[in-house]
Parts: sequence; C-alpha cells; structure tokens
Amino acid sequence: MAHPPEPGPLGVFGGTFDPVHIGHLRLAEEAREALGLARVRWIPAGQPWHRAPPRTSPQHRLGMVRAAIAGNDAFEADGSEVAAGRPSYTVDTLAALRTAEGDLRPLVLILGTDAFSALHTWHRWRELFGLAHIGLASRAGQSVDALTLDPALTAELAARASDNKQDLRDAPAGRIVRFDMTPLAVSATDIRARLAHGASVRYLLPDAVLEYIRQQRLY
Ligand code: ATP
Repeated sequence: MAHPPEPGPLGVFGGTFDPVHIGHLRLAEEAREALGLARVRWIPAGQPWHRAPPRTSPQHRLGMVRAAIAGNDAFEADGSEVAAGRPSYTVDTLAALRTAEGDLRPLVLILGTDAFSALHTWHRWRELFGLAHIGLASRAGQSVDALTLDPALTAELAARASDNKQDLRDAPAGRIVRFDMTPLAVSATDIRARLAHGASVRYLLPDAVLEYIRQQRLY
C-alpha cells in the first residue's frame, strides 16, 4: 500500500495577541511562504508567565485571532494554552505537539527578533531545539546580527543558523532558519494606547478584529 504523503513542516506561532495586528499576520504569512510551511498554527498564550497580565481575557484574545485568520486556509487557531487556565510554557506546548504530530514532522517555532533575543530566559529553553526548528524573522528592519545577544544564545545561533529552508525538511527539529520580513513597526502596545485615547487603529489590524473589539467593547 502506498504511504500517505509526508505532511510538510508545521509552523507554530505563539503570542499574547492583545490584540492581534497586521505585524503578526505578515510574520505568519511571510514565514509560511519563505520557509515552505504547510500550515501555521496560532497559539495565543493563556496567562503569559514572562510578562504583565494582558489587558484582555484569553478567550477574547483567541476570538480576535480566529477573526483575524478566518479565510486563510493555511492558518489555524489552537486554544490549548487558553483552555489550560494557567501559565503554559512553550516547551510543554511543543512537546504535546510533537506527540500529536509524530517524531518525523518538522515543527517550526516562528519568532520575531525581539522574542528570539529573550529566548535564553524561557523555561527549559535549550530543550526547544530538540522539539522544533526556529524560524527567525527580522522585525522592523532589525537584523539579528545587529543585536547584542546573551552569549549562550549567540553560541546556539552560531551552531544552528541556516538561511536554507530545505534544512527544515531534512530534520524534524534543531535548526534556526532566518528569513527577511517586510518591516512593519506595528505593536499591540501602540494599538492599545491609541484605543485608550479613542484614536483610530483602522488598517493596523484587520477590519474583522476591529469589529470584534467594537462588539465586545474591549480596551
Ligand atoms: P506587545 O506590544 O503587547 O508586546 P506585540 O505586538 O509585540 O505585543 P506579541 O503577542 O508579544 O505582540 O508578539 C508575538 C510574536 O509576534 C513575537 O514573536 C513578536 O516578535 C512578533 N511580532 C509582534 N509584532 C511584530 C511586528 N510588527 N513585526 C514582526 N513581528 C512581530
């Protein structure tokens, strides 16, 4: 019997998404295209362990992500961290995905430069490389080479860096593949500040998310 075709690499995109905006959408879309990802799974953090509590409930942040990605067949929302009701560590989320997807499927954790530069502060961070690759985007024109990184992170980058998306398919985990991303200096912090002043945020996030924010009276 013929084997079913091997599913392509699965992108994994975590964030607070308070709210989700066009910077996130372009990051996921450009990662999918540049890295040849079959799909991108969006996983909003329930209660982030590494930053102040979000303004908005986990359920609404998941609702905004669902509204934002509706209509993109390659994107899917994953409510597992939201449903957990406690802080989730990325290493545990990736371990669960690894179990669900099998030992062979490449998993690619998508990170912006700012998230990557704090990676060495994440819980059991070195184990991440045994579970997934990292797809590393430059954010707002920042190159990783221009960053001052923690020495342990610099060493991992030197050992694992690649600019070749084929490396993602040759192993299930362990490489850091960089890709260029259209610089978009949009942040959720800035959007929340505008909303707090009653200023327009139109075109910084999809209309469907704006509508969700209005209907649910968020921010
Ligand atoms: P905040 O302003 O509240 O810190 P944020 O807009 O940075 O939020 P997060 O949910 O913290 O959004 O980010 C999730 C992921 O998206 C991170 O990997 C981050 O690097 C990336 N990201 C966020 N905004 C952009 C952007 N404008 N361009 C590229 N990547 C981005």
